[in-house]
Amino acid sequence: MGKQNDLCSAEYEHQRLQALADYRILDTPEEPVFDDIVELASLICEAPIAVINFIDCHRQWFKSEKGLGVRETPLDISICAHAILQPGLFIVPDTTQDPRFANNPLVTGEPYLRFYAGALLESRDGYPLGTLCVLDYQPRDLTQRQCFALQTLANQVMAHLELMQAHRQQAELIRELEATRDELARHASTDPLTGLLNRRAFEQRLQQEVALMQRGASSSSLMLIDLDHFKTVNDTLGHKAGDEVIVRFAYMCREVFRQADVIGRWGGEEFVVMLPRASVMEAERAAERLRQTLESTPMVDTATPPLYVTASIGVCSLNGASSMDECLHRTDELLYQAKENGRNCTVCEQEKVEVR
Ligand code: GH3
Ligand code: MG
Ligand code: MG
Repeated sequence: MGKQNDLCSAEYEHQRLQALADYRILDTPEEPVFDDIVELASLICEAPIAVINFIDCHRQWFKSEKGLGVRETPLDISICAHAILQPGLFIVPDTTQDPRFANNPLVTGEPYLRFYAGALLESRDGYPLGTLCVLDYQPRDLTQRQCFALQTLANQVMAHLELMQAHRQQAELIRELEATRDELARHASTDPLTGLLNRRAFEQRLQQEVALMQRGASSSSLMLIDLDHFKTVNDTLGHKAGDEVIVRFAYMCREVFRQADVIGRWGGEEFVVMLPRASVMEAERAAERLRQTLESTPMVDTATPPLYVTASIGVCSLNGASSMDECLHRTDELLYQAKENGRNCTVCEQEKVEVR
């Protein structure tokens, strides 16, 4: 039994229209599955006109129609709008004999509708949405078998709408799941303080790059950066100021390096950068740009006198000849050398010359 009881209340009509909107059927193109049902209804009921119609706010809209030639008509001349006021089948054997329809322009004028039979299209929650109806130009009736068939076909219309809705909801769920999965993956690969790749994620990217180079891709460069005397920053200005420096430095790295360069937080106050297809010389230029920007930029807003931080950097070539671990080890040695050389400097592989 449907929810026809309080059909007139505005609140009920609002809910009914919402139920209709949830099926997202209004104003969709014609579809063979609904056209087939309309054809069958017309055939079984031996009626020249058959329609799947939905009662919208100010119109009745036809998902499929045979014999009418329009996709919607105003609500005030709709016979179906009356049909949805009651459960089951609504039959008007002769419209000219029914005071509700005798003056309807569709009855008194073109197309001179005389017979109407509509089976209710009812939502899962019992809201009347529209009808599957057949119409004729002569007064007549339906046999019991035709009545049964018309209601069964109406049920098929609703079953199909339910299926489409379930399919949409499933697709929506899959989209949400994929978004959550991507978000989780992003979290798992990101350093929370700086938003840079964390060590694990960086190593994965590096491993991929090494694999590419082992298959012949041109060589890249690897850089390890360690902030100098960082412990003193924490000791003198506090851990929060230390964090601020780390965040600012990460931002600086993003500004200095190219879009294609991969930046990671290696741990603590150590950072790592992979520069795809960059020679050691090119990487060295980038390292020096970063080092010089850093040494001349105050790093903590509230510090007086201004706090300047420096960094020591090791730069190494990355090619298919060595494993990832070997490359990292070599770069770490170069960084250590930069520390040994007095900090605030870059030491590169090849000539192993110090640039200051
Ligand atoms: P060096 O020039 O030899 O690199 O000296 P350093 O003081 O930078 O190196 P050390 O390894 O002795 O100390 C690193 C310090 O970085 C110690 C640690 O407390 C601090 N640190 C590591 N991670 C963080 C962080 O996330 N936030 C803050 N505020 N400090 C951190
Ligand atoms: Mg360190
Ligand atoms: Mg350090």
